[in-house]
Amino acid sequence: MAVCTICQKGKLSGRNIRHKHSGLWERKAPASTRVFEANIQKRKVLVSGISVQVELCTKCIKKIRNEPGWKGLRLFTPTAHETNARVELS
Ligand SMILES: [Zn+2]
Repeated sequence: MAVCTICQKGKLSGRNIRHKHSGLWERKAPASTRVFEANIQKRKVLVSGISVQVELCTKCIKKIRNEPGWKGLRLFTPTAHETNARVELS
């Protein structure tokens, strides 16, 4: 189960309401349970200069991108030298 490492956001349960109906009153807007899942992405993050891969929700990724240094975190952006090294390996 994917959970955000910062805010612990994960699965939530809710109801799915079908508005299309026909016939009896009992069939009007029947509800079934469903699962709402958080949008969790794997990102490399710099924690005091060391890059670590963590699972983050998109809200936390946005926060780190717009406020570098939030909770001492920075998004890992590979330099030109590192991208060239990756191309040579493959
Ligand atoms: Zn989060």
